[in-house]
Amino acid sequence: MSARILDGNAIRDSVFAELRTEIKALGERGIRPGLAAVLAGENPASQLYVKSKIAACEQLGLGSWLHTPPATATTEELLALIGRLNGDPAVDGILVQLPLPAQVDAKAVLEAVDPAKDVDGLHPFNLGKLLSGRPGLVPCTPAGAMEILRRSGVAIAGANAAVLGRSDLVGKPVAVLLMHAHATVTICHSKTRDLPEIVRRSDIVVAAMGKAGYVRAEWIRPGATVIDVGTNRVTDAAEAAALFAHFPERLERFRTKGSALVGDVHPDAAGVAGALTPVPGGVGPMTITMLMCNTVKAACMRRDPQGAQTAPADSGTSAHGAR
Ligand code: NAP
Repeated sequence: MSARILDGNAIRDSVFAELRTEIKALGERGIRPGLAAVLAGENPASQLYVKSKIAACEQLGLGSWLHTPPATATTEELLALIGRLNGDPAVDGILVQLPLPAQVDAKAVLEAVDPAKDVDGLHPFNLGKLLSGRPGLVPCTPAGAMEILRRSGVAIAGANAAVLGRSDLVGKPVAVLLMHAHATVTICHSKTRDLPEIVRRSDIVVAAMGKAGYVRAEWIRPGATVIDVGTNRVTDAAEAAALFAHFPERLERFRTKGSALVGDVHPDAAGVAGALTPVPGGVGPMTITMLMCNTVKAACMRRDPQGAQTAPADSGTSAHGAR
């Protein structure tokens, strides 16, 4: 059996097509949603992430502004910048790229973002709304995972779902979204006993641990759906050989490049699962996609709190995640 591949790039393309229609309609009303990104310091990975987010805005015709305070910026300077962006009517979404420089109180800066412009959905106010099943801005990676499940026609209601990982960024919000979509959810973490057994009885497995290939193929229930959030760069040749023993092309690419991106689920799971997201090309592209959705949604919600709840690009954030 070979799993159906849940292609995040293809899903991103269809969400983008819907977003373009929505953005055009907003344009006809004189509204151009816009995202302000704050990139403090010169972390190369952060620069790359922010560049892709700005590029996605440009691709969709959204406004975008990049603010690059120096690595020496203080908490007060960043709070002042966030204050200005909160007050700027052209800015619908504010994205603070993490990590912030060590001397900055990251929590204070993130919590200073107006919840109405919190397109990362990580402000405690938005997390509270998520928990209580009210429409709002939902964290992008969990929303992306749900969008993949919905658009792939995976039955969620009544399913047993295992979420591996309990971070604020991924594990907890995705578990809440699955519960709102009527799955029976088991949340696992590093102290969980008998993880293989929990995975074995799950129809849906969402892996967000940050451990390359940790979830073995033999743990997966035949036919289960696997959403692999893990994004791990493997550079060790012996580890790559064990991961790609049945994927000679991937092993060859690893040998040429000296590294490979691998999820938390062993690639051999493709022979057991019914459907699975590849790494790369699964959940990854959906994170930026949901950031774009949230920016449009924030623009709509600020102007028309009722109307935004039924927006076509609503990322499963309506009450109880049901659409
Ligand atoms: P994190 O904050 O490090 O959390 C990892 C979670 O996994 C923790 O809850 C930890 O449990 C749990 N865990 C670790 N080892 C475990 C084990 N052996 N068994 C069961 N649970 C275990 O990581 P994160 O920020 O959630 O990210 C998780 C992964 O997703 C990473 O690979 C990250 O790169 C990736 N990610 C991808 C995207 C994307 O766009 N594709 C976005 C965000 C994150 P404890 O709580 O007990 O420590």
